Amino acid sequence: MHSELSKIWLSSPHMGGHEEKFVAKAFEENWIAPLGPNVNGFESDLENYLGQQKHVAVVSSGTAAIHLALVQLSVTHGDEVICQSFTFCGSANPIMYQGAIPIFVDSEPSTWNMCPRALETAILDRIAKGKTPKAIIPVHLYGMPYLVDEVAAVAEKYDIPIIEDAAESLGSTYKSQNCGTFGQFAALSFNGNKIITTSGGGALVCESKAAKDKAVFYSTQARDQAPHYQHSEIGFNYRMSNISAGIGRGQMLVLDEHVKLRRKMHQFYKNLFQNIEGVEVLTEPSEDFFSNHWLSAILVDPDQTSGVDREQIRLHLGTYNIESRPLWKPMHMQPVFKDMPYYGGKVAQELFKNGLCLPSGSNLTEDDRDRIKTAILKIFKK
Ligand SMILES: *Cc1c(COP(=O)(O)O)cnc(C)c1O
Repeated sequence: MHSELSKIWLSSPHMGGHEEKFVAKAFEENWIAPLGPNVNGFESDLENYLGQQKHVAVVSSGTAAIHLALVQLSVTHGDEVICQSFTFCGSANPIMYQGAIPIFVDSEPSTWNMCPRALETAILDRIAKGKTPKAIIPVHLYGMPYLVDEVAAVAEKYDIPIIEDAAESLGSTYKSQNCGTFGQFAALSFNGNKIITTSGGGALVCESKAAKDKAVFYSTQARDQAPHYQHSEIGFNYRMSNISAGIGRGQMLVLDEHVKLRRKMHQFYKNLFQNIEGVEVLTEPSEDFFSNHWLSAILVDPDQTSGVDREQIRLHLGTYNIESRPLWKPMHMQPVFKDMPYYGGKVAQELFKNGLCLPSGSNLTEDDRDRIKTAILKIFKK
């Protein structure tokens, strides 16, 4: 055990140096509330960054953003919503908050994201069973854009709106268009481990000013226009704090730099594993895809590595105080979702079995990379 070595994290917060100025200004002006100049400023920063004339509402988390999208699409008790199975639970939990039923769909091997064929099979079968799904939630996992055109074609064919889970993909593009601008709604996350952070937070990307206003309305307890507190609908306390938004404004100044540094980590792993048989690094399938490489991930085939599997690598890195983590456990394999319908084969299941996320932070140093390299080479030299 090399416990004297400092811990190398999978992905840790990386401040750019300007965040505290925005937070200090909030203190000076006493905007210590879930509204104020940083909230408005962060929203317009995101709108300018994303382009496509989007309207953005910042909220308390990415999960809250997905929930608000479902509310606006009138998803309610007994409705069905299709969701990529290979994802973090934040994609799927809001379906349950609405009393709706998640219909899980497998991934395809080129991007590890929603398989358009399994998606169509799922839609046809749900329609045959009596219900047209109310929304589709595909995910750009680990920053890798899903097959945007193919998934959109299926969604359009059956006239089902897309809620794009872009929680991990701010700064990624597909055919030069930003992830987070493809769905009728999109969710971003600024949790502590994401490419930029506000300590915790998220955003709902909307197609119109009216949809954004509605998101703000629902995220501030659905208060009617009246001098007193009056409510005709159930709302949520989901608005982002002006303090968090100040951190977000500072982080926007370094977002592109963070993307560059995360991509540099990915290139480091490409080089490192180039000559190691049986290990594949998740990489863009074509020029159409540009990943922020939020997390660099590998797939290990023990048949080609003389038996070294992902769990051995994970435990071995742990003895060097280097954090790594299995890929997301698919939702259809989770105890809490075991009774929910699932469409597809074993792609997501195999990814979970053989995949590992490696340290990917934009704040990793040359020393950190050396330590990772030494540890990895050691296990493959045995
Ligand atoms: C982080 C994440 C979310 C949820 O975001 P929070 O801000 O943590 O609520 C949703 N989906 C995916 C794929 C995520 O990685």
